[in-house]
Amino acid sequence: MTVFFISDLHLCASRPEINQIFFEFLRGPARGAETLYVLGDLFEYWAGDDDLDDSFNAVVASAFSECARAGTRLYFMHGNRDFLLGDAFAAACRGRLIADPFSVELRGVATLLMHGDTLCTDDRDYQKFRAEVRTPAWRNEFLLRPLAKRKQQIEELRRRSESEKRKKAPALMDVNVGAVEALLRRHGYPRLIHGHTHRPARHEHFLDGRQCERWVLADWYRAGSYLCCDERGLTPVRLS
Ligand code: MN
Repeated sequence: MTVFFISDLHLCASRPEINQIFFEFLRGPARGAETLYVLGDLFEYWAGDDDLDDSFNAVVASAFSECARAGTRLYFMHGNRDFLLGDAFAAACRGRLIADPFSVELRGVATLLMHGDTLCTDDRDYQKFRAEVRTPAWRNEFLLRPLAKRKQQIEELRRRSESEKRKKAPALMDVNVGAVEALLRRHGYPRLIHGHTHRPARHEHFLDGRQCERWVLADWYRAGSYLCCDERGLTPVRLS
């Protein structure tokens, strides 16, 4: 059993080099995996599944779909930028949306998968914003607006959040260790895999007498990468 994890690709039509690496990944290594988990922020942003008509988005969906036809099971988790990905997107990719957090057993090890933004509890402003936009009411209301209008609004939000981010202390943008430990406790230990922070690493947490580990996935800004789980354990692999 080989399982791959990716997150934070932030795909958009304007970054052809990373897109190339991504398509090669889906045509190549990803087909050697039994399961591929996409743990959020696959896209730079997602305005709604009616944007599947966009030519770039359609090419991405069909690349996933081809990978699924070749035998790889695909699971998609929402990120903070693409939390509007819906069932139509998943169906176009021949994959399935999964909840955040999502529990799996990897070679006998209970493992919790997350995007990671919910662990950044020190960033109160972000958590407040998140709570607002993740309600069904907000979602339904937003998706009723014309697509062009939604894209415009998202662009505005992103500009504002970029300028706010520059004012925030770097520690504010990382996970809160207390939140990580509470989560590991709640879900029965011992392993967590997440993305979002763009700080790839393997962290050890010694908790209630147990050795726990937390893997943070790399983003795809400078290169591509995935985390491979096979008989040798967990290994980060860089693509370029
Ligand atoms: Mn994110």
